[in-house]
Amino acid sequence: MKFNPADKIQDLQYFGEFGGVNPSISDSSTYTFLSAKTMFDTFEGNADGCYLYSRHSTPSNLYLGEALAAMEGTETANVAASGMGAITPVLLQLVGVGEHIVSSRTIYGGTYAFLKNFTPRLGIDTSFVDITKLEVVEAAITEKTKVLYCESVSNPLLEVADIKGLSELAKKYNLKLVVDNTFSPLSISPAKLGADVVVHSLTKFINGSSDTVGGVVCGTQDFINNLRNVNDGASMLLGSTMDSLRASSILKNLRTLHIRMKQHSFNATFLANKFEADGLKTVYPGLKSHPSHELFKSMMNVEYGFGGMLTIDAGSLEKANELMELMQHKNLGYLAVSLGFYKTLFSAPGSSTSSEIPEEEQKEMGLSDGLIRFSIGLDNDIERTYAMMKTCMKEVGIL
Ligand code: PLP
Repeated sequence: MKFNPADKIQDLQYFGEFGGVNPSISDSSTYTFLSAKTMFDTFEGNADGCYLYSRHSTPSNLYLGEALAAMEGTETANVAASGMGAITPVLLQLVGVGEHIVSSRTIYGGTYAFLKNFTPRLGIDTSFVDITKLEVVEAAITEKTKVLYCESVSNPLLEVADIKGLSELAKKYNLKLVVDNTFSPLSISPAKLGADVVVHSLTKFINGSSDTVGGVVCGTQDFINNLRNVNDGASMLLGSTMDSLRASSILKNLRTLHIRMKQHSFNATFLANKFEADGLKTVYPGLKSHPSHELFKSMMNVEYGFGGMLTIDAGSLEKANELMELMQHKNLGYLAVSLGFYKTLFSAPGSSTSSEIPEEEQKEMGLSDGLIRFSIGLDNDIERTYAMMKTCMKEVGIL
């Protein structure tokens, strides 16, 4: 039977300690042991089912982690206090001084800044490449390379990574393929396509209510144990731990992710088609004009669609700003960074979420000043939304 990530979440059965239909929330930072020997064993990482201290793990975090591992089809997972709190320990666990990462050049600005500005201080070098060209990726690999890093659908340009092709390269050169799947939960299952580690910012579609930041690392039991190791585990030692109350609230939101993703995708497909037909430069992986449309189709879990993210080019930053301010004024969404909310969110990445990327590099990768990134909301009547957006576009003169 074909892997279906939402069914894997549905198939989990959790009970609270008094038979509650939701697991009880663990409201403790530390845990008692019946014997001193078990405490010692737990420190050594050998006491399954025992909890030590909440920076290491908590029952609530494990419940959420197991649900996300089921969704991604990995052995297990470790949740973190933010997406960056998931991504940074993974890279620091896998790569050390004198070693090298090959990364997509179009990635979230914070991850880019970490690789470009922060990790060189630790003796880690990164080559940024056009991830859509496997021959360019291969040419950048050196004997020092340890990791290939990409986003399944990139922020903000919506480039699509050939995860199978990249995983073959990773195997050939004995590297780990780390994929950030924040933009395409359920639609793409990177581990099923050969990724070794899958990370998410839970802040976005997965939580879906823009009320918290959160992150997760999905991988093998071995790798997650390494991250949590009390002696040299980057997650344990850097301390980016999710709070149990948050883990339990994200778990509840995760259960409606499949319904939300279908609606995000439906609405984004509708708008992308309309915008393109109106003559706007529109990028959406569901459009035939997208250079990786067929690739996305070959990787996707069809029923969840092409996702909720699209971009248009308003021609200039001034026009983009004018349009976004007007759309917010008309209550068509919010001028805000982030994604995956019930309302449409829009921002100009060149001057916001990707501003860490120097202007020249932005130009080189095709990130224009007038680019507006939309996270399309759950609007009930998307035709009505479109009609109102079109009026705004006419008013600012981009249509
Ligand atoms: N990965 C992607 C693709 C993102 O868009 C973001 C945030 O915008 C992150 C990671 C970082 O996540 P967080 O803000 O939860 O730390």
